[in-house]
Amino acid sequence: MTNITELLQKYWGYTSFLPYQKEIITSVLDGRDTLAVMATGGGKSLCYQLPALVLGGLTIVISPLIALMKNQVDDLNERGIRAVAYNSTLDYHERTEVERGLQNNTVRMLFISPEKCMQPSFLGFINRFPVRLIAIDEAHCISEWGHNFRPEYRQLSALKDYFPSVPIVALTATAIPAVREDICTQLQLSDVREYIGSFNRPNLSYRVVPKNKPVEFILDYIEQHPDDSGIIYCLSRKATEDLAETLVQHGHMASAYHAGLLPEVRKKVQEAFIKDDISIICATVAFGMGIDKPDVRYVIHHDLPKSVEAYYQESGRAGRDGQPGECILLYSRGDLAKVRYLLEHDDQDEEQSGIAFKKMQEVVDYCETNSCRRKYLLAYFGEEYPGETCGACDNCTHPQELFDGTGVAQNIVRCVRQLPTKYGAGMITDILLGSKKAEIGRLRFDALPAYATGKGYDRNTYLTWIGDLVRQGYLARTGDKYPVIALTAKSEEILRGGVPVMLPLPRKTRQRRSEVPGQ
Ligand code: ADP
Ligand code: ZN
Repeated sequence: MTNITELLQKYWGYTSFLPYQKEIITSVLDGRDTLAVMATGGGKSLCYQLPALVLGGLTIVISPLIALMKNQVDDLNERGIRAVAYNSTLDYHERTEVERGLQNNTVRMLFISPEKCMQPSFLGFINRFPVRLIAIDEAHCISEWGHNFRPEYRQLSALKDYFPSVPIVALTATAIPAVREDICTQLQLSDVREYIGSFNRPNLSYRVVPKNKPVEFILDYIEQHPDDSGIIYCLSRKATEDLAETLVQHGHMASAYHAGLLPEVRKKVQEAFIKDDISIICATVAFGMGIDKPDVRYVIHHDLPKSVEAYYQESGRAGRDGQPGECILLYSRGDLAKVRYLLEHDDQDEEQSGIAFKKMQEVVDYCETNSCRRKYLLAYFGEEYPGETCGACDNCTHPQELFDGTGVAQNIVRCVRQLPTKYGAGMITDILLGSKKAEIGRLRFDALPAYATGKGYDRNTYLTWIGDLVRQGYLARTGDKYPVIALTAKSEEILRGGVPVMLPLPRKTRQRRSEVPGQ
């Protein structure tokens, strides 16, 4: 068998494999169904590209976006490996050309969308050629548990019926176990070998910034990083356009990017971004997936991501070349209310929206945690980060100052205990602050001993502290759609006062610190 390291050197110019690449390639070459879970930038493409060379014949690569296919096809052809994208943009001439390439067995890889691949006409056509391997990129799109479910991926569950003896390699950057399981079941993978790489991206740094004046923050940031490429994610198409316009008015090369643009405009923007004619793209999260540029130096989330997983993916578009990248999330509780509202008025079923709310809450936890953000992200994927601090997130480089908040914590716990039934953090805060809201009067909560015992701090500070007590296990959050606060076995410890409960210093102090730019 051809030496795979030699091929790696010959076609890609790399001298060694990245973690797990060799294992995955070997498994594929052994003819085994293989699931490769590796972080973005981990080098997944090579795991089917190199086998395609070794195996000869044809490798079908299923990929969700034409833009992604095009990048890869161009890249492969430049390396002297014949690859084609088979999609509806081909004209008659190009199509004949592809067919000729297949007939004389010079085409190694054929990229195709899932829906196209499952069309009877294509299945009939491809049947004439020696298919040796099927690679399914972004395989998490097949799972409703993932952050990017695409119904057309479901059709791929019939692949094994058509190609029972062709090994399948499924690749994804989504590690949560439910998605992994779903991929294997849906694709009918048999006796599958799974390889799960580390999700740590050591070259990325993480920061959460209070969203006071987001546009000013972004302008400042860009001014301090004039030579860098960046992506700024916004929630709505309109927001991407407004922001891009503001940036342009300030003399920056920026452009909006979302699904509402004509395909040719999108293509132009993308190419301009790749060629550095545009340095900043303001994209909707729904559409950022097509952006594939290795030297993105920063990713700023102007609005909250939908889930921690989505945040990991989106922010992970920074630093794919291995050079430093910065991931910044602008966070405000006001935004949270907005997203909640949107979720409530989304026409999803109860279960779906329950999942959505839970995922949202995890994003809030990421934003409000005062321990290492990298640790938090990795723990989310079931990975333990070795060590207490990573040295490259705001909480590690500028640890939040803590104080002995036992008194405050006791107050909060007492309030929870005095309530006749469970309520959300907002209600508890209102009671502690002695709010005059009608609901409080109606429920007679102004008669509780805890009422108005917490004056002196603002609302957000309390909400953050309650979140902290939950993270520390002194309280619990239950209920899906409308999270409520409950006591835990550890709550009593607080009231006994045996151990000091450390809480972050109130918000004002923190804001000033995180406004220190650059760090
Ligand atoms: P993924 O699809 O997992 O996000 P890619 O396949 O796009 O990652 O690879 C990410 C980067 O790593 C690319 O620039 C690629 O050329 C590079 N790369 C892949 N394999 C190796 C290797 N063995 N050595 C060095 N760089 C590699
Ligand atoms: Zn850290």
